[in-house]
Amino acid sequence: MSQTIYIIGHKSPDLDSVAAAIAFANLKNKLENTSDYVPAIAEEINQITKFILDKFAISTPEVLTDASEKKIILVDHNEASQTVNGFEKADIVEILDHHKLNFQNDKPITVSIKPWGSSCSIIAQMYFDSNIVPDKNIAGLMLSAILDDTVITKSPTCTETDKALIAKLSELASVEDWQAYGLEMFKIKSSIKNFSELQIIKNDFKDFAFKTGKFGIGQVEMVDLSEVDARMDALFAEMKKLHTSENYHSLIIFFTDIINVGSRFLVVSNDLQKIEEALGQKLENNTTYIPGILSRKKQVVPMFSKIFDN
Ligand code: MG
Ligand code: MG
Ligand code: MG
Repeated sequence: MSQTIYIIGHKSPDLDSVAAAIAFANLKNKLENTSDYVPAIAEEINQITKFILDKFAISTPEVLTDASEKKIILVDHNEASQTVNGFEKADIVEILDHHKLNFQNDKPITVSIKPWGSSCSIIAQMYFDSNIVPDKNIAGLMLSAILDDTVITKSPTCTETDKALIAKLSELASVEDWQAYGLEMFKIKSSIKNFSELQIIKNDFKDFAFKTGKFGIGQVEMVDLSEVDARMDALFAEMKKLHTSENYHSLIIFFTDIINVGSRFLVVSNDLQKIEEALGQKLENNTTYIPGILSRKKQVVPMFSKIFDN
């Protein structure tokens, strides 16, 4: 008897978490000659994900509001604090991810974690290892996710494997110039004009349960930071509200200039002094710019976990 197995990425889904769910379901259904694998999302998709799904004529996965009693596969995350509601009562059967492992389970399951630039890189490699050629649209979707997660290969998380996969997938997706395509994507992605302050904060946002307390760390990747400067006060006002209402120890939003490679940090915290220690520089009116910072996973989270999770 068939049973649906939902493949689902993290809350506040980014392109990689949605693309990974779709591509992994597609691959598994092909490999097992079934249709049991169904991609799902934990929350509504963001603007760029919508754009890319439309571009490649792929329908938006269903929102799984409660995973209780369901079989699920986690992609692009493994931390309880980031996963779908009801996961405590779900049957988690597999994990595919490219983040640090912070997961406990009462039975052995398949876990595929590689220190690569995106979850879609792991899945694309699985297609090629299985001698299954992804169709043009799935190839385009995976390509877009890899370019997004690796900031068009600029991120320190990007590996040689990712670069090789970008070349292969570009060919399959008939994308002639992946660098130009990536930049076009980031331009669409980075305009915050039509977003409210809360939408900007929650755009790509993750909770971390550190020993000292709950951290919320959000990132916005941009091609120009001047839009941020203009809205600084309003952003802080919204962050302060969220800091109180959601009981955060610290709320950190950083705006990354992907062209000049550096990030502006906005911080609301119960312990600003320790935050400065973690950042390695002083804050001025709760903000500072740090050159060279591009990756939450490889650069920003470790800075804070070293100080607040020990
Ligand atoms: Mg992600
Ligand atoms: Mg990812
Ligand atoms: Mg990202």
